[in-house]
Amino acid sequence: MHLILVNPRGFCAGVRMAIDVVDQVIGLFPGERVYVYHEIVHNKHVVDRFIRKGVTFVESLDEVPKGSIVVFSAHGISPAVRAEARSRGLTAIDATCPLVTKVHAEAVRYARQGYQILLVGHKDHQEVIGTLGEAPDATQVVESPEDIPHLQISDASKLVYLTQTTLSTDDATVIINALKAAFPNIKEPPSSDICYATTNRQHAVRTVGPECDATLVIGSKNSSNSVRLTEISRNIGVQAYLIDDVSEIDWSWFATGQERVLVTAGASAPEDLVAEVCRTLLERFGGSIEQRNIFDEDIEFAPPGALRKIMETRGIDPESYRFRAETPVITPELYGAVPMTISAPRCGSPA
Ligand code: SF4
Repeated sequence: MHLILVNPRGFCAGVRMAIDVVDQVIGLFPGERVYVYHEIVHNKHVVDRFIRKGVTFVESLDEVPKGSIVVFSAHGISPAVRAEARSRGLTAIDATCPLVTKVHAEAVRYARQGYQILLVGHKDHQEVIGTLGEAPDATQVVESPEDIPHLQISDASKLVYLTQTTLSTDDATVIINALKAAFPNIKEPPSSDICYATTNRQHAVRTVGPECDATLVIGSKNSSNSVRLTEISRNIGVQAYLIDDVSEIDWSWFATGQERVLVTAGASAPEDLVAEVCRTLLERFGGSIEQRNIFDEDIEFAPPGALRKIMETRGIDPESYRFRAETPVITPELYGAVPMTISAPRCGSPA
């Protein structure tokens, strides 16, 4: 078996920030219970690891005792949740990814300018619920071209579309083209709302997939960007499987064990799970492993404002903290003693 691990894969800067924020908060408030509103990122293992550290995850702020510490997840929240936290006297630290915050700001700005907003995304996803909450009267969610005839449009010359950050670029193009066909004057966001991490991970699968017999995506079923990676692979005719970890591998997926398998991970999946999957496959089938570097990513985020203030009151310089996802390194310690090669990046980051 030949495993091709594509880079970029796994943690993005927003996920790195959200996870490190919770770790920082645990360290800054020893002995106090830390609550996180919604899964901090959509990954079962990340959540379970925090539960083992004593973190409590809630789906409603009613579950958080007055005066407690709460961290908002990377997916963003509506202003109503922020207001509720204030009214309950909670110490709230917002770990929303700055690239989600950018979409929120666009929604607020366009709604103030009198635009109707067509938000392309998945209705039930936490991020879409949060963005919708910024301008609920001005926003309608579009999940597919079939939704377009049912939209309530009062002035087709005052329309803008925005998108969820983690959409499939293939699907988004289809929906956006359908919106443009229905509403030729619809305004576009100033820059793509689909984030760099989503775009780059999907591009890596599209680039390397055609060389492979199958794609394995490590990520949770509720991780939008992980699910989208399987769809991108299937769109180019390569069967894809989404697994949380090694225990979910079905050996019947590999007929001979001689396959070339693309391995990637959603933006919220830890690298040690990727390594465990690869080690297990090669222990069973033998073979080699190759890291194919498609792009290097160099995005980093600063700590969120509320955390910065807390750090300053504790004499910690927030300027010394930056959150960025490192390029994964394949080593025999992590991946096992098998033939390994690493290719240089083909070009710079496209997004
Ligand atoms: S996937 Fe994109 S929007 Fe989501 S946390 Fe990562 S960088 Fe931010």
